[in-house]
Amino acid sequence: MKDLSQLDVPGPTKTPLTAPFWENAAEGKLTIQKCGSCGEHFFYPRPLCPNCWSSDVAWTEVRGSGRLKSFSQIWKPGHPGWLPVTPYLVGLVELDEGPTLLSHILVERNEAKIGDRLEFIPQNIGGQMLPCFKYPDNKEEPV
Ligand SMILES: [Zn+2]
Repeated sequence: MKDLSQLDVPGPTKTPLTAPFWENAAEGKLTIQKCGSCGEHFFYPRPLCPNCWSSDVAWTEVRGSGRLKSFSQIWKPGHPGWLPVTPYLVGLVELDEGPTLLSHILVERNEAKIGDRLEFIPQNIGGQMLPCFKYPDNKEEPV
């Protein structure tokens, strides 16, 4: 695995709505919002539940397991700070709770396959702990 901790890259843009996601990520936790009215999990962060429009929404920690829905190998990063680790993968991860996240995928291109199980791993990227995904240590399907 490439060392991402020494990269000189910009961090995420934090807003009052997204700050809890990044603050929890800094503590190694993956959190998404859950509706207190209908029980749906959702992501990206919103002030209202996209399913029932309730404002009774709260951040909740999730297991961080899911499937690789799609991915792309990045050869020309959007910021030059990423060049030392180019090429790298970013992908859409569909969490077991339902929502899909765009994330850095710590998997080699020749190993990545759509549908594969992934798990959350907090990763130091340029001095900040950010959510990433990797293959589980045991790639067997859960029973
Ligand atoms: Zn709802």
